[in-house]
Amino acid sequence: MKRVVILGGGLGGLSAGFMLSRTGKFDVTVVEKESAVGGVCGTFRHKDFLLDYGAHKVYSVIPGILAEFKMLLGEEAIQHKKKNGIYLFGQYLNYPISMADLVLKMGHKNLFQCGISTLKGMVARTGRKRKIESYEDFVVSKFGYNLYELVFKPLADKVWGSPETLSADIAKTRIPSANILDVLARALGLKKEKATTDARFFYYPKGGFGALADKMAREIVKNGGSVITETKAESFQLQNGSIRKVLLNVNGNKKTVEADIVISAIHLDQLLSIFPEGSGKNIENAGDLVNKLEYRSVILVYLFLDKEKVIDDHWIFFPGKDIVFSRIFEQKNMDRDMVPNGKTVLCCDFTDYESGILYTQSDKMLADKCAVDLVKIGLIKPEWVQDSLVRRFPRFYPRYGVGYKTDLGMIYDELQTVDNLLLSGRIGFYNYNNADHCLDMGRFITDSLLAGMPMKGIWEELKKRISEYRIID
Ligand SMILES: Cc1cc2nc3c(=O)[nH]c(=O)nc-3n(C[C@H](O)[C@H](O)[C@H](O)COP(=O)(O)OP(=O)(O)OC[C@H]3O[C@@H](n4cnc5c(N)ncnc54)[C@H](O)[C@@H]3O)c2cc1C
Repeated sequence: MKRVVILGGGLGGLSAGFMLSRTGKFDVTVVEKESAVGGVCGTFRHKDFLLDYGAHKVYSVIPGILAEFKMLLGEEAIQHKKKNGIYLFGQYLNYPISMADLVLKMGHKNLFQCGISTLKGMVARTGRKRKIESYEDFVVSKFGYNLYELVFKPLADKVWGSPETLSADIAKTRIPSANILDVLARALGLKKEKATTDARFFYYPKGGFGALADKMAREIVKNGGSVITETKAESFQLQNGSIRKVLLNVNGNKKTVEADIVISAIHLDQLLSIFPEGSGKNIENAGDLVNKLEYRSVILVYLFLDKEKVIDDHWIFFPGKDIVFSRIFEQKNMDRDMVPNGKTVLCCDFTDYESGILYTQSDKMLADKCAVDLVKIGLIKPEWVQDSLVRRFPRFYPRYGVGYKTDLGMIYDELQTVDNLLLSGRIGFYNYNNADHCLDMGRFITDSLLAGMPMKGIWEELKKRISEYRIID
């Protein structure tokens, strides 16, 4: 049996561990620094409430992945008919946006200006090929300048910061419509929404999204592997370009595990910091480059309300800069048994740089800001708020700056020189992807190793594969 050490017990690490261990050909050890597995896909208890880290749904258009999720969850999968909203022009619209809704609610002036700017853009682009580098280039070329200014720019600015310096890759991953004509055709019913543009339904694990991670961890153990929490990898022992041993700190005690293969599902800079000094020029180069990668951190503000229910939607987006959060979700709309009767909890999520004004603000200030904005838009009354809780996830959203691909490509190249190292997951790969993509990475790694594909080949195929992942709301 090949010994595989996996760093990180989020879905990136667990998916690889689960897929590898069930073949019976790999002896898997997953190492997680926290006391529970799941990372951002976990569920935690707060008083009488079970809470997820923001709105999470199980959905995938990758062949076979939804079936894997269903197999893991069995009877515990709740199927939901998805209901999403977006708050624009001071009103709620269904999401994805329908043209009838947009026309009705955006106002004649906005509509006229958007139409003119889109037409102008189309005429200006006729016969010319412009280089699309930034998020702004991409959106303006597809939807026109006015719609960019009105909808896409504020949203991107809020979630990612400065859209002018943001790579077009973010837009490609996040925006399902090909262009304004595509939106129009779908809105007018001339073209049907597809599974690749809109998740009409989704699954949710009974008892919380974290049930998925817990089930994977249990399966790994059942298959003879181990999942060690409260443990950090402190150092590697290298031999002839391979990692041979991983030195662990298990809750204060030292432990060494031998490795034939190491899969990292933790931040790239943390991975690089584990290599001992003198690991070679490649690791040094990667260490220099890794500081150029940018991240946005996630802030989650939970407001506990003395109210049975607030919204019908599973989640609602708030692109406007006048509202502090980017999205809200009501936990009980996923599974009503996670929240006590007569009470509810809204989770507001938003992003910032780790050193940003919002991220560094006190929990109380953040909770107050969210409550004020929820009152402002008419969703809650101040007297309903009984309690609040804030959770922060530093550096969770890879922020693709223009030109990030060159640096990231070089980091991958340097890491590939370690003969038995692979990456997995959103955090491990610095790739903006969802939980289903983590499962796909785990499956691909497993199939490739079983087929005897050389490590370099697995890297190349994985890089191609992850660049094609798309996020579907
Ligand atoms: C608000 C929000 C909503 C989302 N909604 C959805 C959704 O609806 N559907 C969906 O599929 N996806 C969704 N996602 C994305 C999903 O959460 C991620 O794709 C997934 O969590 C990525 O898992 P990961 O393992 O790469 O990272 P993480 O979840 O961050 O896991 C990394 C793990 O590594 C551990 N770790 C870090 N450093 C070390 C170390 N040195 N040693 C040991 N362990 C370490 C961490 O503690 C953590 O457990 C959402 C994300 C957010 C923030």
